[in-house]
Amino acid sequence: MNSPLVANDNPMPQQQSVHGSYNMDSSLILKELLALSAEQENLSLESAETDYIDQVIARKHLRKLLTALQARDAATLCHSRRVAFLAKGMATNLGWEGIHLKQLEIAALLHDIGKIGVPDHILFKPGKLTSDEIELMSHYHNIGLDVLQACGTDNEVLTILSQTRYHFSGATNGYQYIGSDVHQGARILAIADAYDSLASNQVYRSGKGHDEIMAILMESAGTQFDGNIAGALSRWEQNEQVAFHNALLEVNRLYEPKQLNEREAQEVNLVSNIFSYLFQIESLYDGFYIVNTDFQFVLFSPGLEKLTDFNAIELLGTAWTKNSLPLTNTEGASLNSADCSMNRVITNGKPMTSEFMLERPGGRLINIEVQSVPMFGDDGHLVGVAEIFRDLSRGLKRPQEFNDLKLAASMDALTSVANRGELETQLAIMLSRFNKEQNPAPLSIMFIDADHFKNINDTLGHSIGDDVLIEMARLFQHETYSGELVGRYGGEEFVIICPETDLKHAVKKADRLRLALSNLNMESLNQTPLTASFGVAEVEAGDTVESLFRRSDKALYNAKETGRNRVCSLTNQQALTGAVPQLTDSEETAVDAMDFEQSFNACISSDIIVYKLGGFVNDNGAHLTEVRTNRAVLRLGKSGLLPFWGKTDDRQPVQVEIEFGSVSSNTSATTTSRASTPLVEITITISPLGWVKKPTLFQRRANRVFRLLKDYFLAE
Ligand code: GH3
Ligand code: MG
Ligand code: MG
Repeated sequence: MNSPLVANDNPMPQQQSVHGSYNMDSSLILKELLALSAEQENLSLESAETDYIDQVIARKHLRKLLTALQARDAATLCHSRRVAFLAKGMATNLGWEGIHLKQLEIAALLHDIGKIGVPDHILFKPGKLTSDEIELMSHYHNIGLDVLQACGTDNEVLTILSQTRYHFSGATNGYQYIGSDVHQGARILAIADAYDSLASNQVYRSGKGHDEIMAILMESAGTQFDGNIAGALSRWEQNEQVAFHNALLEVNRLYEPKQLNEREAQEVNLVSNIFSYLFQIESLYDGFYIVNTDFQFVLFSPGLEKLTDFNAIELLGTAWTKNSLPLTNTEGASLNSADCSMNRVITNGKPMTSEFMLERPGGRLINIEVQSVPMFGDDGHLVGVAEIFRDLSRGLKRPQEFNDLKLAASMDALTSVANRGELETQLAIMLSRFNKEQNPAPLSIMFIDADHFKNINDTLGHSIGDDVLIEMARLFQHETYSGELVGRYGGEEFVIICPETDLKHAVKKADRLRLALSNLNMESLNQTPLTASFGVAEVEAGDTVESLFRRSDKALYNAKETGRNRVCSLTNQQALTGAVPQLTDSEETAVDAMDFEQSFNACISSDIIVYKLGGFVNDNGAHLTEVRTNRAVLRLGKSGLLPFWGKTDDRQPVQVEIEFGSVSSNTSATTTSRASTPLVEITITISPLGWVKKPTLFQRRANRVFRLLKDYFLAE
């Protein structure tokens, strides 16, 4: 390597006021990052400790990083501990020993450390991530490597971690091939990570058992995972059986969350700030490096490795020269000392932005923007410089604000699932694809409406109501695995778009969701039942977003009418002929009954009762057959010549019995609002007149009559 350019000849300039695109904060945070590299205890081979940690990473850095992870996301720390246990065990079974085992163990402990920098709304999002969020989330891997480089972490650890990005991350993300050229440590870590992710309880899915996990891992042996290593894991478990599973449990039992003292809390804060700032850099720019006061590279980010095709590990610790990177001026001529941004910031002590050309591997020149940020120590002397790169040739990276805006615009603020606009946009895109294709794959949607949600709000409060909506969204997300889009249509209504799903399967899927919801064990619900009704429709020729929503909404209406907590579907044909709504087989509620009884309370005086009843009879062409003080019986609908029910309300005759009971004032809160009017319990019993083929048909009619009557009595 050439000798550093200016470092030793020129005295370091004093700090000047920092203007330009970098504010004090960013330069301060970069300085903290740089300080990590200066703070290392000597990583010596003659360490007194025999456990090798000091040779892999400075203990105080390891402690700081793990403490910060605990504070930010304790679940991820526990996951990392189990992954470390598994990785170490597999490696031992494969004959690894000594410092190599320690390197792998520490790599495993730190494999998710970058998550510290991911914003809350992505890190803790209850449901599946959108593609934009996945893109943002993916930066955590590089952020972790950035920090570990600055901490002077052992090169083996960096190599293992930089190759472990091919890890298993759930059904929605693609898998990448793990070849034998990948470090064996990375291949072990990938399996340990997948094993623990599959074994862990998710919010709505309990963890899978060992055999099931092994079957999944072996399925992808040779592509995503290394079959030999999976085999080693399997043998380890077979040899130790109970001991293996106990030890895995023990890893967490031994973990005690640490109470932080004030100094530690400050450290955590500082570390978190560094990570968050790196998240910004990683999501806005293409790469960056930092040199220290001796002009040695202390950080060369994975993004910059990709841009330049250089290997960070080879560069770290070597001295920077103006020829370290293949840069030319914008005309393509080689840089003289005066053109060089590093020299200029050192000379004038101010941050600056410059444009260059960078030679890509293969010789192509691309336009590059470089922001150079000098950093000063407390005594005002330059302690290092960061240079941050942006590839101008492929257009601007989307700025953070844009990402935020786009996320905000497509996301429901309460539940973080898609909002109504996003649902309509996505459905429109899918429909236009459907209409263009010769043999399009089926596409279905479900319209979901929580049952008696008003009751949940009334009894538990609006804020618990909100929590329930969040839980519902979360459940729908977790219980859909096949590329469905879950969205909140508004209020207590959700829509799920199900690509590649025909009506029959969509109904099945809806019924599974319906059951899962009715079994949801949410503490704050305090035994209050939570169910929802589902309307399902499949896209048919000529459908628009509007017609599809309308049809599924109609199906939903049928589900409500026929008793709620059920799934109904509707085809165009059925909608046209007014056919019976379809119910799932699994229904076991009272809908098969040929009678109907429901009550409600109304604040109403006896003369108003008479008045309302008269109105109802007149408006609906009913016949009063019996009237007493607390009871009335009437008939509604016409019977035809034959004793069969027709398809329209007026051809579906029913007998309606209305009973008026009094409610004692102390049993209801509503009596206080209108103290002078008595609260009356009105019980409606309905039975069919004539022959009805299906109980559901009767129940639907009875529900409509009940609602109608209720509306009369409750209207002011
Ligand atoms: P049904 O079974 O007929 O659907 O009965 P319901 O009570 O669910 O239906 P209704 O449409 O009468 O009431 C919907 C309720 O949902 C009323 C409203 O207070 C509540 N709601 C709507 N949006 C929100 C929300 O964002 N948060 C909370 N907590 N409640 C909401
Ligand atoms: Mg509603
Ligand atoms: Mg509702």
